[in-house]
Amino acid sequence: QLAGKRAIVTGSNSGIGLGIAWELARAGADVVLNSYTDDAEDHALAKDMAAQTGVAVRYIQADMSKGAQCRALIEQAGGCDILVNNAGIQHVAKLEEFPGEKWDAIIAINLSSAFHTSAAALPEMYANGWGRIVNIASAHGLTASPYKSAYVAAKHGVVGLTKTTALEAAGKGVTCNAICPGYVLTPIVEKQIPDQMKTHNMDRDTVIKEVMLSRQPSGEFATVEQMGGTAVFLCSDAAAQITGTTISVDGGWTAL
Ligand code: NAD
Repeated sequence: QLAGKRAIVTGSNSGIGLGIAWELARAGADVVLNSYTDDAEDHALAKDMAAQTGVAVRYIQADMSKGAQCRALIEQAGGCDILVNNAGIQHVAKLEEFPGEKWDAIIAINLSSAFHTSAAALPEMYANGWGRIVNIASAHGLTASPYKSAYVAAKHGVVGLTKTTALEAAGKGVTCNAICPGYVLTPIVEKQIPDQMKTHNMDRDTVIKEVMLSRQPSGEFATVEQMGGTAVFLCSDAAAQITGTTISVDGGWTAL
């Protein structure tokens, strides 16, 4: 389905990014994996994915908190038909106690990186008359929760950037959309559980059921495979006229 397309997925050595990379590879796209580390395990992921799917997979180290490295990633990849802006971090604290450097890091990695990679990738997409940008926003791109000021601000920003990118790309064969996941049990969520346990004075199971999944009417976590399937759909011909919008994969969170 996506044979011959070259995909770059930022922040893809774990969680949703890795799940999306797997589904793009299974659909036939060549894939570039990325994170800020440069470990043997990172390159092993690429090798394993290539071996299991038969497409070309490379791992390129680049720190998405730095604009120049975001742009260098696109350059080093040597071509980009599908760009998935997925890298993201989280920090949970009351606004008045929120560390300024955490605010800056979240805005840089969760929002500004998508601006830099898109800016670097769009000229070639326009020249080819085909391209797909998929930004991984969040249910927190559409609604808010307390103690997540930087994350909610960044994800709302991603939704705005998605709309503007789509308008500028319209009529050029290039679409830009945002996937808004609800809760998916990945390392970023796993790491929030101790903080939420402290903030709410609850045990692990109670935090999962009553705090995290209380907003998700399905009562279930979404999966990384479901995010991958949604991304593949957004890259398909069926989605050629879907642009500048959000797709929620959140078990009904934003319908509440
Ligand atoms: P994760 O922690 O498993 O993945 C985050 C990825 O980003 C990792 O691969 C990490 O290495 C990478 N990353 C972090 N800092 C980076 C940097 N400076 N440079 C390059 N890469 C960097 O978490 P996840 O849940 O898979 O999150 C992926 C995306 O999905 C994030 O944007 C997150 O906000 C979003 N999201 C997640 C959920 C959820 O419930 N898990 C819900 C909504 C949105």
